[in-house]
Amino acid sequence: VVEPWSILGGIPDPEITSVSIVELGIVREVAVSGDEVEVAITPTYSGCPAMDAIEEDIVARLKDSGYREVKVKRVLAPAWTTDWIAEEACERLRASGIAPPQRVNVFPRRVPCPQCGASRTERLSEFGSTACKAQYRCLECLEPFDYFKPL
Ligand SMILES: [Zn+2]
Repeated sequence: VVEPWSILGGIPDPEITSVSIVELGIVREVAVSGDEVEVAITPTYSGCPAMDAIEEDIVARLKDSGYREVKVKRVLAPAWTTDWIAEEACERLRASGIAPPQRVNVFPRRVPCPQCGASRTERLSEFGSTACKAQYRCLECLEPFDYFKPL
């Protein structure tokens, strides 16, 4: 059987497909005993509609890889924070045109443009393509972009 972490690392987040659920930091723990596995996940934004899809994906992929019994447990505390997103995943977000979340304890919050790197940007809307992103516009290159809101 394949090691569960590497299977989970191949599951993309349904909303941000360039980032895996492991890189996103929502997989907290994996406990294997024989052909049974229990995965503990922490939901990102409360009420994030993607969580059910993620759970189904975890069960399906682990069963495909030979695990007979797959349990998914939701762990609500400590609450998920964007600080748990892996550094490499932040780079990939930027490369795909989404400004990655800044560390929660970093002030002031300037959101640099993921296209040209300019720091003169303005927020257009609290909500972007999904509830966890805000819509910004760069004042230098004038391109709109999504900002993954820190939490
Ligand atoms: Zn720009």
